[in-house]
Amino acid sequence: MQAKIDAFMEEVRARNSHEPEFLQAVQEVAETVIPYIATQEIYNGKNILLRMVEPERAIMFRVPWVDDKGEIHVNRGYRIQMNSAIGPYKGGLRFHPSVNLSILKFLAFEQVFKNSLTTLPMGGGKGGSDFDPKGKSDDEIMRFCHSFMSELFRHIGPNTDVPAGDIGVGAREIGFLFGMYRKMRNEFTGVLTGKGLTWGGSEIRPEATGYGTVYFAENMLKTKDNSFEGKTVLVSGSGNVAQYATEKAIQLGAKVVTLSDSSGYIYDEEGIDNDKLKFVMELKNEKRGRISEYADKYSSAKFHKGKTPWEEKCDIALPCATQNELNGDDAQKLIDNGCMCVSEGANMPCDSDAVLAFHKAKIFFAPGKASNAGGVATSGLEMTQNSLRFKWTRKEVDEKLKQIMNDIHEKCVQYGTDEDGYIDYVKGANIAGFVKVADAMLAQGVI
Ligand code: NDP
Repeated sequence: MQAKIDAFMEEVRARNSHEPEFLQAVQEVAETVIPYIATQEIYNGKNILLRMVEPERAIMFRVPWVDDKGEIHVNRGYRIQMNSAIGPYKGGLRFHPSVNLSILKFLAFEQVFKNSLTTLPMGGGKGGSDFDPKGKSDDEIMRFCHSFMSELFRHIGPNTDVPAGDIGVGAREIGFLFGMYRKMRNEFTGVLTGKGLTWGGSEIRPEATGYGTVYFAENMLKTKDNSFEGKTVLVSGSGNVAQYATEKAIQLGAKVVTLSDSSGYIYDEEGIDNDKLKFVMELKNEKRGRISEYADKYSSAKFHKGKTPWEEKCDIALPCATQNELNGDDAQKLIDNGCMCVSEGANMPCDSDAVLAFHKAKIFFAPGKASNAGGVATSGLEMTQNSLRFKWTRKEVDEKLKQIMNDIHEKCVQYGTDEDGYIDYVKGANIAGFVKVADAMLAQGVI
């Protein structure tokens, strides 16, 4: 079996040798899905996984824009349309200087499995730009978003491809992007999700990824009659996902002691309460400040420059910042300090060594494609509401989100439970996500 996996990876590597993040994501899927395919006659010999690693389309374009001083800049824009076998391409846009083809292809590939797991009819895609929103004025952000959409609009549509936010793309950016799309197309449709509540957005969408990550962890803990009550939690990041994961963990009775950004992390020995979280939300979403300012304001907190939270003691860890932010050494520290559960809020925040360590220690580990699927699932609910020209209440959307996270958990248990009873959520999520897309591809023929 290992020879089969190696041969497959060799073929993928030959074509994508300069894309380490993409290869990492494919390897993780190949290791669990190829042995499964070998046991299923209908998938055997159809090269389905090989077809799935090739994007249906990859679009790359110039994004020129003018700064406040009148200087002209050029960034690169992308949209990877990975797989539309079960529905229109769906996935976020990321604005961050690290964005390149490898990162977007890894995210688009993961998105295909994640969207399949949600049970909603959405294909997978991802896009963005190497534009750095940090330090830019609102006007500069607007001009950049308008320029970006003045090209992207011709490739997307409510039945073709429906982008959303991701790192560096929040409510402000979605507004500017939507405005330009509406103008170019002269139509008001649900072409983007994460819209404002007064113009087509869904209740709970901003909260959904963070809440969903915690709901998923809650489901894992429940399998051992455990819960968040009284647990110490480490959260990394301080953006959209981190903020709402923290809010939900606090609501469930946990003590959240860390948050971070790319400059370091804060540790608050008294725990982050709702008032402190409100301060973080204003700091990050409005003032666009740094997390170190938290420690300037609250004497119970200390700022650890240039470090990640994983050296602190905890019961539960929720990595919610970015890919590969938690390595094998970090994982070992967490395990040695008694951590029992890791639920990924970000996409692929734990590297391969870290995942291996969690599995070896047999602690709960949820991969992002399962545990952070609540965001895109609620985007799917936003698309449904837009099509119906209807709006569900906050309570209704939250109940649907909870149900979807329960269903994803069930699917992981169904496909991921090992002979000794340990639930391998990576295996479960990969196989469950694969089956639905593979069946659709088989039904539609070689296209
Ligand atoms: P935000 O832009 O709101 O926040 C990102 C956070 O991560 C910030 O605190 C940022 O710090 C930190 N960060 C970014 N890059 C790095 C880095 N290289 N090292 C350390 N910290 C870093 O993004 P989101 O909260 O929306 O997204 C976070 C993660 O969740 C991403 O992996 C994203 O793909 C994933 N995700 C998001 C979904 C959503 O609905 N928003 C849905 C599913 C997954 P700084 O400000 O210093 O850059």
